[in-house]
Amino acid sequence: MFKATERTRSIEYAIRDVLAFAKKLEEQGKKIIYLNIGDPCKYDFDTPEYIKKALVEAVAEGNNWYAPSEGLPELRDAICEKEKEVNGVSIHAEDVIVTQGISEGIQMLMAAIVDSEDEILVPGPTYPPYMSYVKFFGGKAVSYETVEERGWQPNIDDLKRKISSRTRAIVIINPNNPTGALYDQNVVERIVDLAGEHNLLVISDEIYDRIVFKKGFVSAAHIAKDVPIVGMNGFSKTYLMTGWRLGYMYFHDPEGKLAELKECVAKETRIRLSASTPVQKAGAAALKGPQHHIREITEKLQLRRDYAVKRLNHIDGMSCAKPEGAFYVFPKVDGVGSRWKTDGDFARQLLEKTGVLIVHGSGFDETYGSGHFRAVILPPIEALEVAFNHLEDFMEKKR
Ligand code: PLP
Repeated sequence: MFKATERTRSIEYAIRDVLAFAKKLEEQGKKIIYLNIGDPCKYDFDTPEYIKKALVEAVAEGNNWYAPSEGLPELRDAICEKEKEVNGVSIHAEDVIVTQGISEGIQMLMAAIVDSEDEILVPGPTYPPYMSYVKFFGGKAVSYETVEERGWQPNIDDLKRKISSRTRAIVIINPNNPTGALYDQNVVERIVDLAGEHNLLVISDEIYDRIVFKKGFVSAAHIAKDVPIVGMNGFSKTYLMTGWRLGYMYFHDPEGKLAELKECVAKETRIRLSASTPVQKAGAAALKGPQHHIREITEKLQLRRDYAVKRLNHIDGMSCAKPEGAFYVFPKVDGVGSRWKTDGDFARQLLEKTGVLIVHGSGFDETYGSGHFRAVILPPIEALEVAFNHLEDFMEKKR
């Protein structure tokens, strides 16, 4: 047997890890209702036609070569225009690096900023790769509290307390996965100020910037004056291009503090050659084309959000804060620690008994996620109804 490294053996990714058990049950004939993965294209959403057409044309016209490692100039320009117009962020094409999804961006960025024992502050609960990659590169992800009773807004005092001499960066995910929280402007301002005071980098994941159910999204780089921000964004959600793997990061760097970091990330892009050229062409077309599908997505999701929150809050032993963005709910389950030993046990039993597949909250952070679960609100209401009926029965039988 060849031995794999400890750093790869210890990788966990709850969202996909739970799938293996569900697949096994499915093979045995059980019907599974998938509420575990944030991929709209697996439900009744699909890439807009004009973007599909742009991809097909890009291939037919012979754009089948390697692109420049940092991204196609036309896409980097289009990203700057989008960030300016939509989020009020002023950046130049050379501040943008195109990645194969934010996922690759997280990997590259963490590789560039995390040395052994370095600490990165992540929201608790968080999108798991922000913990996994920090650990992978020998650092430590330290979660700061986000407060359920306040719609999962970050607790700034807790964040402040957790800054140490080893802290390198603060991660914000706004709107948040898994909680759906849309951060108040003053919360983003205070985080940016705190980072400025302690000479820390802010990493702001804004992949759900346009999937919001009320006004008020504010980009960290729009607020930051002299504080350096790395913005992370992509095409998976807003443009329904999950499987195409396209994203970007940008460096908001008014005082030139990120020059070395930017250069090192650029070097990382070179060793993996480039993101897909035709997909980048389609990405540029996506940004420049009609944007009305975004409103259609959010209107559809808002109805599903309203339905989900109402149903979950009617189930005995369950409560759910109202998400204001993204496409998840993160309800609390009474009885974890007594009726079920862990939230993982809750998830497993729910799956076994009903076929409803959700992700246990501790997969998003042991401290602040435990006792909860994440479900997507992407399926049509009729499908959500079936899933929540099962959930309700399951909770009643457990009484
Ligand atoms: N960031 C957040 C907050 C997400 O929720 C997701 C996907 O669920 C990603 C990044 C991954 O994005 P991409 O498809 O661009 O890799």
